[in-house]
Amino acid sequence: MHIKDLFSNQKPVVSVEVFPPKPESPLDTVISTIEAVKDLNPDFISVTYGAGGSSRAYTVEIADMVKNQYGIETLAHLTCVGTGKDEIDDMLAQLRSKNIENILALRGDMPQDENTGKFDYTYAKDLITYIRSDSSFCIGAACYPEGHIDCDSLDLDLKHLQQKVSSGADFLITQLFFDNELFYSFKERLDALGIHCPVSAGIMPVINKKQIERITNLCGATISPRLKKIMETYADKPEALKKAGVAYATEQIIDLLSSGVDGIHLYAMNRPEVAQKIFADIKDVRGSCEHEHQLQ
Ligand code: FAD
Repeated sequence: MHIKDLFSNQKPVVSVEVFPPKPESPLDTVISTIEAVKDLNPDFISVTYGAGGSSRAYTVEIADMVKNQYGIETLAHLTCVGTGKDEIDDMLAQLRSKNIENILALRGDMPQDENTGKFDYTYAKDLITYIRSDSSFCIGAACYPEGHIDCDSLDLDLKHLQQKVSSGADFLITQLFFDNELFYSFKERLDALGIHCPVSAGIMPVINKKQIERITNLCGATISPRLKKIMETYADKPEALKKAGVAYATEQIIDLLSSGVDGIHLYAMNRPEVAQKIFADIKDVRGSCEHEHQLQ
């Protein structure tokens, strides 16, 4: 099923992101994350591509498992960086052969070294245009409530986002953010620009101080003062930080759900117990939002 149809049929669409392990590692953690959330009925599970050095070869394999073994809709990520036209064509053919209908088309993070192979598409919009020429795929794209780290301003980044949407993106998923006001004001700006496709809010539970500092340094997301206080207070108490981080993310999600968000995308970091706890905590709230929507 096309994810754009999930957004039109029901609201909110709740999804989970998993990432493949490094090439030499087994798929165990990914499988346990999928196992942990499958009974909680995520609307789809997305599978990253090459993010943080994970194996690209596993992306189709995991997406295939999610869709064809577990019967859950899936979204396969694909990047311009490190992927030439031939590899893109090969990926598209593999996805088609597994009946995987949804692709998150991304540029990818620019390599630190020169040895990442050639890539034939410069920006995500170029990859989207190419994939769109085969209209059987539903295409998602990334967006950034605080602007993308490589871009000089949020205004300019929004112009680039407009190009991605007019090139054929059907829906958007945001970068992680820790202050919902950033998301609400971003949504207002999208409306003002006439960008009306569904936007899923990307939420990452903080369970490890060093990890979140590394990620926010890379992507430029701001750690809110309230979250900073939590991270500092529980820096040396991993269990307490995990509980507080999960509670913070749950609170963010409940606020977003009660504000009528199109979707929630959980960056679960292959931590099955975290995904499970959050899904269990939002179960009733999510259910009543779906009910409200059906009554409208
Ligand atoms: P683009 O939309 O191409 O934008 C990249 C930069 O170029 C921005 O600064 C933009 O403003 C600028 N730009 C765009 N168009 C133009 C133009 N015409 N002229 C000048 N500048 C322009 N990375 C992975 O490697 N694998 C993954 O699986 C992965 N999954 C992700 C999932 C989500 C939901 C998100 C939010 C990010 C993900 N990333 C992933 C990270 C992503 O690849 C990086 O953030 C990357 O740096 C930008 O990707 P993009 O698709 O947004 O790029």
